[in-house]
Amino acid sequence: MSEHQQDATSVDLCIACGEGEQRTCRAEYRVDHNGQTRLIEDERSVCDHCGQISYVGDQISRHELAVAAAIREIDGLLSADELRAFRTRYCLKQTDLEAMLSTGPKTWTRWERGKVPQSKTADKLVRLLAANPGVVRKLMSEAKVSNPEAEAAVSKAESEMLTAAVAEAEKALGDRSANEFQNIFGQGFKAGSEVRILERVA
Ligand SMILES: [Zn+2]
Repeated sequence: MSEHQQDATSVDLCIACGEGEQRTCRAEYRVDHNGQTRLIEDERSVCDHCGQISYVGDQISRHELAVAAAIREIDGLLSADELRAFRTRYCLKQTDLEAMLSTGPKTWTRWERGKVPQSKTADKLVRLLAANPGVVRKLMSEAKVSNPEAEAAVSKAESEMLTAAVAEAEKALGDRSANEFQNIFGQGFKAGSEVRILERVA
């Protein structure tokens, strides 16, 4: 035993047999979830004496992240990166979203770290928020979230959506002459005037 302990200063001895060394190897790992299967590439440690498979150090964390990512993919949920991208786009803090979605403390944090997938209900709500900055503002207000940066980001997102909608409408109207626009909008039409009106309404 003392020999092994001396040897163990530089290598991890197998906890199962106490004889072999754990070698790092990559292998496919099968994730079965809701009747579907995904194969993920796993980094793990295999004993060169007895063949015992184990996950050591940050292999554990990477394995858990990869399994959770596969489950998210099977369930069609937003990835942890997509959740983070949504949150940072609106300059929201993790605690802001926990208040807005009435989840427990640290819930959003865990979702964003990736090891715990969000529920399908939460996923739907986040998609709705991502597409509707006005709903973000409403939930911020209801949860009494005070975050001036987020409020500015929400206004900017609304303005960008409006600009995109106007561009879309212009595209739909096609390449028309000034005379045609005057016929459509009346004699008072000046280029760009309808864009400014829409921005005031926003
Ligand atoms: Zn072993």
